[in-house]
Amino acid sequence: MFELGSFIEKAFSHHSTIYFVLDDNASFVYVNKAIEERLGIKLDLSADKNIEFSSLMTRPKRWKLFRKEFNNSSEKGQAYTFQVELNTSENKSINFTCELKSVEFESKQYIFGELLEEQIKDENNTTQLQLSGLLTKNTNLLRERSFNQYIYNLIYTIQNLTNEAEIIETVCNRMVERENNEFSIERVVLKLKKSDEILTVFNNSNSATESDFELVKNADEFILNGENGSIENDGEGGFGIALQLYDVEKVDAVFYIKSHSEEQLNKEINELKIIINSMARQVSSVYLTNRLHRESIEDPLTGAFNRRYFDNEIKVEVNRAARYNRDLSMVFVDIDHFKIINDTYGHPQGDRCLVDIVKLCMETGRLSDHVYRYGGEEFVLLLPETNYEQSMVRAEKLRKSVEEASFLNINNPENPIKLTVSLGVSEYIDQQKFIEFINCADIAMYKAKDTGRNKVIGSR
Ligand code: GH3
Ligand code: MG
Ligand code: MG
Repeated sequence: MFELGSFIEKAFSHHSTIYFVLDDNASFVYVNKAIEERLGIKLDLSADKNIEFSSLMTRPKRWKLFRKEFNNSSEKGQAYTFQVELNTSENKSINFTCELKSVEFESKQYIFGELLEEQIKDENNTTQLQLSGLLTKNTNLLRERSFNQYIYNLIYTIQNLTNEAEIIETVCNRMVERENNEFSIERVVLKLKKSDEILTVFNNSNSATESDFELVKNADEFILNGENGSIENDGEGGFGIALQLYDVEKVDAVFYIKSHSEEQLNKEINELKIIINSMARQVSSVYLTNRLHRESIEDPLTGAFNRRYFDNEIKVEVNRAARYNRDLSMVFVDIDHFKIINDTYGHPQGDRCLVDIVKLCMETGRLSDHVYRYGGEEFVLLLPETNYEQSMVRAEKLRKSVEEASFLNINNPENPIKLTVSLGVSEYIDQQKFIEFINCADIAMYKAKDTGRNKVIGSR
């Protein structure tokens, strides 16, 4: 008798009437007497044909996946439950629920199965002993389990990302990485459709042919054809999945995915939908959060930062300048005789001029220079790492560019509008209170107004 047999007999004699052992290759290495008695035949485990269990596990990949998951969970003392059916030449069949656990014997891993519940059935006339349903049910179960874990990890990963592009990239990359044989996908192309503009935001395929790309180019058909998340088969192993990414801006996304096996992809498609929808939810949520944040700090008319954000940032910048002894300057900008613009051309025209002035403020500066709308037609530039002389130059540059600019006259484009601004400059002096720092720039600006406008005055 197989050595393991006596071990098993001793170890599990107190267990249920029916039990068996499978080795690492899914072959039976032991069945107990109760099974033979129940089936009414003597089983010879060394003869291949006697038990066909392993033939049900013919796909090694499945078995490997099953084993991997099984070993992991067995370490935590978990067992799996399956429906098993044994059929004999005597038209006897045993249909029972069994529980599988991992066991170790002489440093080798085996699977120990025992009966939990039994149903007697007589109508089967199959001549071979079969354990049917076991594999399919079980691997599906395990696949689901491992997939849930995979989804959980992926969602956990993307939940910590606050950048829309990064989220999209992470999900698309995971789809094609196939670290754990999750998907059969070899190509993912993601397009965003914003209004009528179509942007390719992800394309993992270096080997994409022109015709593949044509398919993707035409992928907006998928959007038009389907509802959110619906799938269109292109009949060539490729699928399009359409979904709406942001409700707010009506941004549509379309995936084009291609698998090395269409059959495989058909099985994976629901799981892919879950992943893609999770991604869409996360992207939307990040988008919304970012948008709310932007809205809370931006002036809606001009796109400059708002007064509230200025009140916050001035403290941050002053602190930084004081602590690290860095240069920091400020420029106050007020449009000259702006009331006349409103009175002459109307408020919508005045609004348009405010927008264009802010554009000029942004264009003449550096990226780190922040433009704030301080009040109605007053703006502040906060200039980190900029000393007094540099900010005087910067202010003069802005004054000149406004003076030289022709502002669009919305009702009469032929006759552009001319504007000038008055500017006051102050530099942060060590240990100064931020309010004094602001006042200096404000006072300088009023001095510019008082002495003829369209000029830069420094607070020194
Ligand atoms: P000064 O050269 O002394 O600065 O003259 P001014 O006319 O620019 O100054 P005043 O403070 O008398 O008027 C500011 C004007 O800015 C009045 C107001 O109608 C206009 N204004 C403020 N906010 C807005 C806005 O959001 N849109 C428009 N169109 N006008 C605005
Ligand atoms: Mg003004
Ligand atoms: Mg003013």
